[in-house]
Amino acid sequence: MKEYISPIARLINQFTKLPSVGAKTAERYAYKILDMNDAQVEEFAKTLIDTKKNVKLCSVCGNFTETDPCKICQIRDKSIICVVKDARDVLALEKINEFKGVYHCLGGVLNPMDNIGPNDLRIKQLLNRLDAKVKEVIVATNPTVEGEATALYLAKLIKPLGIRVSCLAQGISLGSEIEYTDHATLSQALENRREI
Ligand SMILES: [Zn+2]
Repeated sequence: MKEYISPIARLINQFTKLPSVGAKTAERYAYKILDMNDAQVEEFAKTLIDTKKNVKLCSVCGNFTETDPCKICQIRDKSIICVVKDARDVLALEKINEFKGVYHCLGGVLNPMDNIGPNDLRIKQLLNRLDAKVKEVIVATNPTVEGEATALYLAKLIKPLGIRVSCLAQGISLGSEIEYTDHATLSQALENRREI
């Protein structure tokens, strides 16, 4: 990036840290910032900082929240817990507006290749939530090898407690992600969930 003066080069470098942003797009974003007036740039920067400062992870479910516990944990049906990889999947499931229970974000999935084992995920916190009120745990991890291995691992831990464990029905194509699955498919996969 020798052709840019250093403040611009630094800004472009920041934008390239975002997903799907290559050098060209980063350059367009940087010039757009330079086109904005001071108030607009301040508003932009302040929003970034405020978001990071005000959005936390719920201490119960691990979802993004401004309050702790989050609104979902406060008001929804606690007899059914939907286990997901992370908070982005909560958003995807909330968008279909059908699930009335609460969530549990694992913070990832089991992955021996990346040295991610049970202790690296919020599995202990999940087990601690499983009191007599809990009737069903839906494991809605992505239909990848790691996601399915995680679902089986959780089923082995939870079923002996007398709690029904289910997973999303086939329909979400193998290897794809819940986050990017369309509403109709996801809604059907939830409705037709099967016991593990
Ligand atoms: Zn919560």
